[in-house]
Amino acid sequence: MTIHQNLIAGEWVGADGVKNINPSNTNDVIGEYARASVEDTKAAIAAAKAAFPAWSRSGILERHAILRKTADEILARKDELGRLLSREEGKTLAEGIGETVRAGQIFDFFAGETLRLAGETLPSVRPNIGVEITREAVGVVGIITPWNFPIAIPAWKIAPALCYGNTVVFKPAELVPGCSWAIVDILHRAGLPKGVLNLVMGKGSVVGQTMLDSPDVNAITFTGSTGTGKRVAVASVEHNRKYQLEMGGKNPFVVLDDADLNVAVEAAVNSAFFSTGQRCTASSRVIVTEGIHDRFVAAVGERLKSIVVDDALKAGTHIGPVVDESQLKQDTDYIEIGQKEGAKLAFGGELLKCETPGFYLSPALFTEATNDMRISREEIFGPVAAVIRVKDYEEALAVANDTPFGLSSGIATTSLKHATHFKRNAEAGMVMVNLPTAGVDFHVPFGGRKGSSFGSREQGKYANEFYTTVKTAYTLA
Ligand code: NDP
Repeated sequence: MTIHQNLIAGEWVGADGVKNINPSNTNDVIGEYARASVEDTKAAIAAAKAAFPAWSRSGILERHAILRKTADEILARKDELGRLLSREEGKTLAEGIGETVRAGQIFDFFAGETLRLAGETLPSVRPNIGVEITREAVGVVGIITPWNFPIAIPAWKIAPALCYGNTVVFKPAELVPGCSWAIVDILHRAGLPKGVLNLVMGKGSVVGQTMLDSPDVNAITFTGSTGTGKRVAVASVEHNRKYQLEMGGKNPFVVLDDADLNVAVEAAVNSAFFSTGQRCTASSRVIVTEGIHDRFVAAVGERLKSIVVDDALKAGTHIGPVVDESQLKQDTDYIEIGQKEGAKLAFGGELLKCETPGFYLSPALFTEATNDMRISREEIFGPVAAVIRVKDYEEALAVANDTPFGLSSGIATTSLKHATHFKRNAEAGMVMVNLPTAGVDFHVPFGGRKGSSFGSREQGKYANEFYTTVKTAYTLA
């Protein structure tokens, strides 16, 4: 089996390979991917540092052409790359292709942004002096990504980094190197100069840690767990570098008595269980007012009967497998914890046997949960959700906000008054009305508050806050 190598200083290197396994069929080996060492990572950082002066001053048309070409190829290969994504991560083929299209759209968006980086000019408070405010690239950007969006998250970090003239050292999650390798290959062939984008696949404790420890990495953008995020923060403070963190969530979805029942059920089931619940924006706390509670729970139960959990690549599958064995154990541990805490496992939560050996779990819905239980406070990151019964809107809002996290928050209601109040008062970076808590556009800001995020927003034009630094120049006329 040929090894997919790392890209360091424009050369494909690395011999030692790790197998990438399909969670829908553990007999299916997708490929072997090189594992970078500490020395490889240091070489990648040095290459990015050396490439920075020329790339940061490169013409915007060159950057535009490379990003546009990358977008075109990703979109042209959406079925093949979407299939690779589903095969390595386990989300359904439709979700895999959808995520791939989104990655193409992100590259297309930032191709356009290369031509739109505006500054400001202002008169000085002193006579005959002009003031120009411009944005410049930050330097070497370290990119560390998780396994749950193997193409979209790398795209929404790599595209703006390159767009604004930064060079990159990119470390994807070891569990899903396939899509990352594919987009780096596309960017490389699109004509990126040597050293501008370096791929270092491998272990977080080796590759990621070397990036954190390097004084030559000028900024780090990280998406992943809260624990690793804290390490990124501490190391970045130590090196006085810019950093951006997108971490966990415990997103609430509120259902009010006046909700349209079908809208509420569809949004809640999508939020909690699609993509196997492995989305940072998934909702695992469904907060339901007492007038609609029993009807809502019964309707969700009915809806779950029609959900098919199976091989991600099979036509007709709605929910694929959990990503790997350790994540599956985490999910089943929480199902046990929920029961011990006194919540009632109303539906699902069973290990399933499908045609192929994989990590299959039926969507688990708890009822009679309270907001102080561990299943309501800690991120599970699987197809496990809990319904919390509340008296009225005021209690629903208080429970929704009673969490250390603040990424996404949703409500199902037909009341303009409650929707408007919720949008203003939900303590979250993103608020959804009559929509699932997950599922966002690629051209507007993404991110959270409280324990979910740190630093400026990702995506859309707001991305320039992280990937550029501001310069103020004064000129005597
Ligand atoms: P992890 O934090 O375990 O891993 C994220 C990345 O960090 C991986 O590439 C990992 O490498 C790397 N890493 C691990 N240890 C270190 C280290 N010491 N130094 C530097 N890098 C390191 O998260 P998961 O991949 O398990 O992702 C799941 C988590 O991510 C969930 O908690 C989820 O909520 C969160 N998430 C948040 C999102 C958001 O936008 N808010 C979006 C998606 C996920 P490796 O795994 O290869 O060893």
